[in-house]
Amino acid sequence: MTTVAIIGGGIGGLSAAYFLLEKARSQGRPLHLHVLEASNRWGGVIRTVREGGFIVEGGPDSILSFKPAGLALWQDLGLEDEIMGTAPGRRAFIFFRGRLHPFPEGLTLMIPARLGPLFRTFLLSWRGKLRAAWNLVQTHRTPDGQDVSVAEFVTRHLGREVFERLVEPLFAGIYAGDARQLSLRTTYPQLLELERQYGSLLRGLLHRTRQRKRHPNGFRPRYTPFVTLRTGLGRMVEALVARLQGLADLHLGMKVTRLEPLDQGRWRVYLDDGALEAQHVVVATPAHAAAPLVEDFDPDLAHLLAEIPYAASVIVSVAYDRSQVPHSLEGSGFVVPRVEGRPLLACSWTSSKFPHRAPAGKVLLRCFFGRAGADEVASWPEEDLLALTRQELRETMGITGEPERAWVFRWRPALPQYTLGHGERVAAIFQRASQWPGLHLVGNAYQGVGIPDVIAQAKRAVEELFPAS
Ligand SMILES: Cc1cc2nc3c(=O)[nH]c(=O)nc-3n(C[C@H](O)[C@H](O)[C@H](O)COP(=O)(O)OP(=O)(O)OC[C@H]3O[C@@H](n4cnc5c(N)ncnc54)[C@H](O)[C@@H]3O)c2cc1C
Repeated sequence: MTTVAIIGGGIGGLSAAYFLLEKARSQGRPLHLHVLEASNRWGGVIRTVREGGFIVEGGPDSILSFKPAGLALWQDLGLEDEIMGTAPGRRAFIFFRGRLHPFPEGLTLMIPARLGPLFRTFLLSWRGKLRAAWNLVQTHRTPDGQDVSVAEFVTRHLGREVFERLVEPLFAGIYAGDARQLSLRTTYPQLLELERQYGSLLRGLLHRTRQRKRHPNGFRPRYTPFVTLRTGLGRMVEALVARLQGLADLHLGMKVTRLEPLDQGRWRVYLDDGALEAQHVVVATPAHAAAPLVEDFDPDLAHLLAEIPYAASVIVSVAYDRSQVPHSLEGSGFVVPRVEGRPLLACSWTSSKFPHRAPAGKVLLRCFFGRAGADEVASWPEEDLLALTRQELRETMGITGEPERAWVFRWRPALPQYTLGHGERVAAIFQRASQWPGLHLVGNAYQGVGIPDVIAQAKRAVEELFPAS
């Protein structure tokens, strides 16, 4: 009998538990599995509230369909019929100099990849457009192994305006981070690959776009880039927990306080109240919560884990009667560049993207706060956050009325920041952890922050734990 303790009941821990049970079943290995979650609910930052006909996501609201691990898990869980894409023809906007402007068409990898829309957009000055176009004759290759920031890389290829007005706000919306500090190699390696192949970002993107036009069928994906589940991402958590029930010991409200390696490759897992023993421990907590667990036996590993910075995030969802919202809402929402100096990072028009998420005649908007370096809003009282949301929606979308309902979700600290040197830091973490037989690390701190990335890591950890015999 192999005993495994999984620490953390977010998507990392739950999917690791699911893959372990599947693997043990297929290999005919007896398995005793504990899943230990400190809080009183499963899912970590995934939280869906269903209330008054609204489906409100407190954390993530969709996954990228072209990263296979997420959809594959949904299919395994029998959720295929519940997968839904975003409503068609939904453009994104940017709030710039007091107005909402549509993003230039033809964005690929967050970068404008068609010259016509790039030249027509009101978002860039003529100087900015010519600077971007100059990349067609520029050649630059980042030396192998050199880590550059997203800001430095995009500015070098396409100029400051493209970075500040187009790329930075999209990036901040995903990483809640400061693109001047984030490592391109670990957040956006596809851009480095384009540079390596073509020596110029714009030449590479234009070439990709032409290829796509020439072979449209070869590139027509089954799903839209962002997909979700009809009743919210919480459905994935519910389905996972239902699969684990009866096959694993599932414990809520059980905080692990430290780990102790024993002889013969066993581990003692200390809880707030008591302890248990296991041959393997899968630490699926955020890195800052993993650090104290390993501190006693490997202070260097604890130090490396604690070095990964995190940003706080606040999401305020508000519901209005359609008559109160003057905007056409024909789009998916908007982002706000840092240069605008506003606290609002982005606003997703949830009921336009996923129309069934609000009752007929109602509008559901999801506002993001917590810009890197200014994320103290996460500790503001709820009424101040609501007042800030109303003010930002009035000034950006002209909504003057009161919301009919509001939901405030605070995540602190929530999103790991893959700052310069992240790749080396993670390599050092895994190298140190590999010295401790039976210790496995899973989670968004290491090799990708998206849900599919975390699921893929959980799968890799399980392959390592139960290698194919
Ligand atoms: C606001 C927000 C929006 C996001 N939007 C998207 C999106 O749209 N699409 C997308 O793909 N990704 C998105 N992400 C990222 C993605 O949701 C996360 O990276 C992923 O869900 C993290 O899963 P996890 O299991 O690694 O960590 P978590 O969800 O943080 O789970 C870790 C769990 O460990 C528990 N824990 C901590 N310490 C202990 C302890 N000592 N003992 C026991 N348990 C412990 C915690 O209580 C928690 O439940 C978003 C993230 C945030 C915060």
